[in-house]
Amino acid sequence: MATEKQRIVMKFGGTSMAGTERIRRVANIVRAQASGGNEVAVVVSAMAGETDRLINFCREANALHDPAEYDVVVASGEQVTSGLLALTLQSFGCKARSWLGWQLPVKTIEAHSKARVSTIDAPGMVASMESGEIAIVPGFQGVSDEGRITTLGRGGSDTSAVAVAAAVKADRCDIYTDVDGVYTTDPRIVAKARKLKAVTYEEMLELASVGAKVLQTRSVGLAMKEGVRIQVLSSFVGDDAVSADELPGTLIVSDEEMDELVEKGLMERQLVTGIAHDKNEAKIILTRVPDKPGAVADIFTPLAEASINVDMIIQNVGRDKGETDVTFTVPQADLARAQAMLDDRAEEIGYNRVITDSHIAKISVVGVGMKSHAGVASTMFRALSDRGINIQAISTSEIKVSVLIDEDETELAVRVLHTAYGLDAND
Ligand code: ADP
Ligand code: ASP
Ligand code: MG
Repeated sequence: MATEKQRIVMKFGGTSMAGTERIRRVANIVRAQASGGNEVAVVVSAMAGETDRLINFCREANALHDPAEYDVVVASGEQVTSGLLALTLQSFGCKARSWLGWQLPVKTIEAHSKARVSTIDAPGMVASMESGEIAIVPGFQGVSDEGRITTLGRGGSDTSAVAVAAAVKADRCDIYTDVDGVYTTDPRIVAKARKLKAVTYEEMLELASVGAKVLQTRSVGLAMKEGVRIQVLSSFVGDDAVSADELPGTLIVSDEEMDELVEKGLMERQLVTGIAHDKNEAKIILTRVPDKPGAVADIFTPLAEASINVDMIIQNVGRDKGETDVTFTVPQADLARAQAMLDDRAEEIGYNRVITDSHIAKISVVGVGMKSHAGVASTMFRALSDRGINIQAISTSEIKVSVLIDEDETELAVRVLHTAYGLDAND
């Protein structure tokens, strides 16, 4: 058990901060960590549902909203919860103050609504933490070089927490959420999902990027780069729960640490570590594209220039008459823009029709074991076909296989694969 004084960053997500009653529970957890003499910074999300509500206001006000003003509106949810948590802690007799994104400041670069943290100037906050004051930082928000408020993309408070942990050189970054760790798949979909004691940065990065939203992808990348020690754990625990110091959640670890855990018999090596799903992509099919050099470049260059992220791509074998069909996926949020762009360039690209489909889901299996073992993909294809699930597209990386299926079959596919790879809890 850790008894030495530590510097800890604690992050609480939207469900944990939803209302003053829950904020009181959060304040209790924070007080317990601080009372041992630890230096504590807390990063908070807006109340659950609040960011969606604010985004809707922006849409109602102006469908083509200015991203800079959008950020002013959506960043406000975190300002409310950070102030409320400071007030609640003060009501408990603790010293606490909020440090807004522009006050610290959390400097960001790149586009509004999906900004990246560049630097955090923390000496003032560190001095206050050293004097025993609890620092509360609203997640998700920062400030641009021009002095305007920015936000870090949905789920961005995780990244704020990791960035703060790196800036203050924290011993640990505890991400408190509404589940008690990272599971083999979303525990809300598969009741038999198993909690993992540890996951490697590499696997967590891949899982997050294919839809396991328990951590924002960028937060994992940043933690890996900065060597931040992350633990994912639940804020929904009783007063008699095990302290976070005893690592009751899931640790994100390096490959070397994972090897040690396996050697000690604390973790088992599995071929597949986890399964994730993503319903936020849309499929685009261009029919009868000329089968000649430069044709796909004509399609994808303008999409890249418009910062539309293309994920899976399939080009069919050319038909007679030198034509082929090209299928690819883009984020659903960018579908309308992608379609408009393709319509504009119809003549230049020379395709026959654009067919779009948002009713799809991407299912992915992830595991470092795949690097050295064959047969992971074929197990996936067989398990899905045994249940009559049709695969529309496939993509792979060194530690991942993804397939595109009908959205209605998402839950079934995740369950079937969870069983097929021997991940069910009672196996
Ligand atoms: P917060 O508001 O605390 O940031 P999120 O809703 O962003 O919480 O993330 C937590 C949710 O992530 C869980 O409620 C769970 O449904 C989902 N989730 C998806 N995949 C996983 C997984 N592999 N392990 C744990 N939770 C997962
Ligand atoms: N409130 C923001 C969102 O809902 C950021 C976060 O909660 O991480 O996306
Ligand atoms: Mg989240």
